[in-house]
Amino acid sequence: MDKDAKHKASMEKQKSNVDASIAAADTEQSIVLLLTGNGKGKTSSAFGMVMRAMGYGQRVGIVQFIKGEQLSGEELFAREHLPDSDFYQMGTGFTWDTQNRQSDIEAAERTWAEAARMLQDPAYDLVVLDEITYMLSFDYLDEAQVIKTVQARPEHQSVVLTGRGGGSGLQTLADTVSEVKEVKHAFRAGIKARKGVDY
Ligand code: ATP
Ligand code: MG
Repeated sequence: MDKDAKHKASMEKQKSNVDASIAAADTEQSIVLLLTGNGKGKTSSAFGMVMRAMGYGQRVGIVQFIKGEQLSGEELFAREHLPDSDFYQMGTGFTWDTQNRQSDIEAAERTWAEAARMLQDPAYDLVVLDEITYMLSFDYLDEAQVIKTVQARPEHQSVVLTGRGGGSGLQTLADTVSEVKEVKHAFRAGIKARKGVDY
């Protein structure tokens, strides 16, 4: 067989495999996604889904469990394009160096209350819980409670969880788990975080 014929045969085989898998995946249901790992691309992927959902006129709820040191483009976007009730950021109270564990826990619980509200409201088609993994690894929130609330969500609502170190509890809960692997990051070459790309 010449190269072109070989390519054609291999593409035909691939297409029939893909078509068969598409036909087999016929269950209509909402899903839970976990985006974890050390590479860049977790929050930006979550916001890619926000854009998709909004493109179809769906309602999205976003809760960010960590306040970045600087303002982010996604925060600006959300504040401009979403009603106040659909975007919540933990804000002050949380510190990486955990100088005041008690105030961190209060902030985490206050933020979780917003997430839980969205997870119980059928008006939301997509709920993003950005950086929630840290609340569980620091033990600021009860993992069993988070899992139970996500499982009890309205039937058509999908949920995206992001953050490094998403463990076995969240992996079991999620239908789709992606671990973003760092192969290279510009930061390591001394390149400064960039507006519109990193924040
Ligand atoms: P992004 O928001 O860009 O999708 P992320 O959500 O995957 O990133 P986080 O751990 O939340 O990653 O980090 C957010 C910020 O840290 C972003 O500015 C991102 O570019 C940067 N960052 C992500 N991964 C790395 C890395 N491996 N080394 C250095 N900086 C990183
Ligand atoms: Mg992130």
